Amino acid sequence: MTATARVALRDSHAGALLTVFAAALVTCDGRGRSRGGDSAERAAQAALDRHDAAAAECASPSGGGHADIQREVAYAEAPHQPAIVRFVNRRRPHTYCLAIPHENEQTGFEVAIEFIARHGGTIVRVEQNGRRNVDFGNAGRKSAADPNRIATRAGVRRTLAMLNADLGEGPIPAELFDRVAGFGQRFVAAIDSCLARADYRAVIAPHNNRDATLDADYGILSYGRPGAAAGDADKTVTGNPAIHESQDTDDFFVVTDRRDFDRLRADWNAALLSRDATDDGSLAIYYLDKRYINVEAQHGAHARQAAMLRAAAHLN
Ligand SMILES: [Zn+2]
Repeated sequence: MTATARVALRDSHAGALLTVFAAALVTCDGRGRSRGGDSAERAAQAALDRHDAAAAECASPSGGGHADIQREVAYAEAPHQPAIVRFVNRRRPHTYCLAIPHENEQTGFEVAIEFIARHGGTIVRVEQNGRRNVDFGNAGRKSAADPNRIATRAGVRRTLAMLNADLGEGPIPAELFDRVAGFGQRFVAAIDSCLARADYRAVIAPHNNRDATLDADYGILSYGRPGAAAGDADKTVTGNPAIHESQDTDDFFVVTDRRDFDRLRADWNAALLSRDATDDGSLAIYYLDKRYINVEAQHGAHARQAAMLRAAAHLN
């Protein structure tokens, strides 16, 4: 090998490393910004995310950084306000469409990044402060909303009333309602356009929840016992929800398409949503008449959620 060739090789290697490093910075950008807020909030968030290995993953290019994946901001009203962000496999952007409304659900995000790095696709994600809920507040006033409750007007009304006690019993200010509803419409529009171009015509939404032993609120059992979620499972289908004794109740699918349910139920915990499910403004409700696959796993259950995501992506 000539000296020139050796230099060229070394340079191209350095270039490749730089590319990987730059991609790592790009995909970790949201996480970097996610550490805002006051120290008490940060401590609370740290406690919630104690399974979250984001910092370690960010430091390693092999964790979140993939040279082919580009991060682009699709919409942001203003700095520090909620943003709609796309992560796109530049070589194969239109294979799969993934949606991530909750920025604190780091395991789902990492699994999604790895998935599109390997299989192509686009992730549409809401980002702002690294937390589950976003804040549309300004001038020191908080206006929190759950980004997975703003796809319909009923959902917007409900999440704003639930999360902002200071709004009181009165009507929600029209300006605030319109901004949040507008953001929700932009979020689903970004997913709609991703879905319209995707080879695989289903919205796949990775989510994470906390261990049911710590937080009994939500799991596959929610769809089989009295309460709101039970009413949302399609009662006309026997064996819905499908519950496997051997599996963690935090790991399950929620789907809108009967064929997806029938393919998943043998091997996985799964619930099929009813046509009459409560309008809570979630993506599941918005996509009730299309194919929507919620891939729900416990925070930190990385390998498990990756296997579930592969299953969700091969149902055709
Ligand atoms: Zn979620």
